[in-house]
Amino acid sequence: MPFVVTDKCKKDYRCVDECPIGAIAPRAGDPAADAVSQVYIDPESCIECGACAGVCEFDAIKRDEDLAPEEAHFAAANAEYFQK
Ligand code: SF4
Repeated sequence: MPFVVTDKCKKDYRCVDECPIGAIAPRAGDPAADAVSQVYIDPESCIECGACAGVCEFDAIKRDEDLAPEEAHFAAANAEYFQK
C-alpha cells in the first residue's frame, strides 16, 4: 500500500526532495504550493520505499494501512490531489 501524507504535514518539503521518483507534490516554489496546507503522495507512483516517512520530523507520513481511523480520509485526499 502506498504512503500517505496527513495533516500533520508542515510543508518543509524534505520528503519531496527525498522521494526518488518524484511522487510527492507540490514542490517548494511551485505556484500550487501556496494554495495547499500540506503536500501529497501520488498513490499510483509511490513505490513504497519509505524514504519520505524516514525524513519527516512531524510523523506526518504513514503507510496506508497504518492510518488511524480518523486519518483514513487522507488516503483519498492524497489521491484526489493528482486527479486535478
Ligand atoms: S514511499 Fe518512497 S516512493 Fe513513496 S512517496 Fe515516499 S519516498 Fe516517494
